[in-house]
Amino acid sequence: MEYLIIIAVLAALLAVAVAGLLLLAPRRRRARGAPPPAARGRTGEAGGAPAAVGTLPPATGLPTLEVPPPQAPPLEVPPPFAGRMVRLRDRLARSQTAFGSALLGLLSRDGLDEQGWDEIEDILITADLGVGPARQVVEELRTQVKVEGVRGPEAVRAMLREDLLRQVGADDDRSLRIAGHGDRPSVVLVVGVNGTGKTTACGKLARALVGEGKTVLLGAADTFRAAAADQLQTWGARVGARVIRSDREGADPASVAFQAVAEGIEAGVDTVIVDTAGRLHTKTGLMDELGKIKRVIEKRATVDEVLLVLDATTGQNGLRQARVFAEAVDVTGIVLTKLDGTAKGGIVVAVQRELGVPVKLVGLGEGPDDLAPFDPRAFVDAITS
Ligand code: GDP
Repeated sequence: MEYLIIIAVLAALLAVAVAGLLLLAPRRRRARGAPPPAARGRTGEAGGAPAAVGTLPPATGLPTLEVPPPQAPPLEVPPPFAGRMVRLRDRLARSQTAFGSALLGLLSRDGLDEQGWDEIEDILITADLGVGPARQVVEELRTQVKVEGVRGPEAVRAMLREDLLRQVGADDDRSLRIAGHGDRPSVVLVVGVNGTGKTTACGKLARALVGEGKTVLLGAADTFRAAAADQLQTWGARVGARVIRSDREGADPASVAFQAVAEGIEAGVDTVIVDTAGRLHTKTGLMDELGKIKRVIEKRATVDEVLLVLDATTGQNGLRQARVFAEAVDVTGIVLTKLDGTAKGGIVVAVQRELGVPVKLVGLGEGPDDLAPFDPRAFVDAITS
């Protein structure tokens, strides 16, 4: 009897053990085939792309898993720089329509009286041409209409075109000084108030130069905004341009600029573009900061261009900013951004008069290739079309 009880207990234990083994086996099989939760998590974060892990640690006791590193995106090839403004003319024409068509409408009227001429002057002033240039254009047009008897829409259009071209400066030298100096790169210093599109202009210019077959290095000397350096890095990565930045917010901008130029010389690049902080704290502060950056760079290279970035939509305020910067540093060219978003294209004339330096580049949109060498003829055609 005792034997029977012992046998029954053993049989029950055996049955429990077999059932347990049967239940556990599939789970183990699943565990062996699947990556550990940590690895699964990482792949998920990368949005389905392979995780940036070379080999899983052998300590897990699981078979090692070779994961190829993520592929760097292919470098972009930007379109040619020259002639871009003609391509973007429609965009410019749309934003300047009010200005151009109102002028043409008035000028095409038969027998313009005093009030009509005043209206023309008002339109030009409203378009930010400036009071002096507006009066001059009106005087010239009056003479041509009254004395020379210019009539008819086409003749009037041609006359307005000629006058505006004279104001804009059709034949001024607007070339960028980026030819380099033998074994030293050309250096472009980009200045302007934050929000004008300064960092974007540096990125777009780097892109355009790469598109022209040049090698470019970017210096993120706007050390007061980490976002500016990040932004520059994104622009650089897309076209393979290196970015020199500080890992510390608020670092000395002059030392970043110096480092960028030194690295540029070392690497033998064609052009170094240095972005700066646009804090309009005090004029003396700005002068000290920009002056120091320029002096420090000039220990190693020549600053060939100082480009002042201005937002075309800011009108008189933009002109005031321009004045302050021009007193702080020798500006050699103007980058007029957001010309696609304003009917006040007259600012081109006003700012050139104010500073005595030409508009060299214009921003005509938020796209990566919406920066163009300023072409006065395309500009005036867009206004008067
Ligand atoms: P920063 O503070 O001067 O460096 O200004 P950002 O480069 O960060 O640009 C400020 C904003 O202006 C961004 O949203 C740009 O996309 C925008 N922007 C820059 N240039 C242009 C332009 O030519 N047209 C338009 N529509 N937007 C622009």
